[in-house]
Amino acid sequence: MAVTTLPEGSLPKNYRLIYDIVQTSGLGRHLTMSDVFARAAEQRPGIGYSTVYRGLVRLRQLGMISEIVVPGADSATYEPVGPNHAHVRCVACGSIEDVGYTLPSRVLKSVADETGFAIDSGDVTFAGRCASCRAE
Ligand SMILES: [Zn+2]
Ligand SMILES: [Zn+2]
Repeated sequence: MAVTTLPEGSLPKNYRLIYDIVQTSGLGRHLTMSDVFARAAEQRPGIGYSTVYRGLVRLRQLGMISEIVVPGADSATYEPVGPNHAHVRCVACGSIEDVGYTLPSRVLKSVADETGFAIDSGDVTFAGRCASCRAE
């Protein structure tokens, strides 16, 4: 699929702001749409929810941010584009953390062999109880 890449400098100002918010939150922080909106509104009062939403969609299409959809989570979250990793979600409090795991290529190959698909990617999400929930 051909992706139009805009040079960063030519992003609309509001999109630039949204990109910076996701980028500066850093890898491993998973911001929801509401988190991004709250930060955007702090810096640019009056910015619309739908502007932030469209910005996130556009930035994801451009491959400039990652959208993480974790099964069982209430909403999608956003993070900077970074090294491949998997996610672990706490079933008690809903927190999502990064874990340094990628599917071995032999797994992708066996899925391809079994289904006849050409596999582009596979996401793994682990679920369990985080350290602070386990301490309760
Ligand atoms: Zn927890
Ligand atoms: Zn992540």
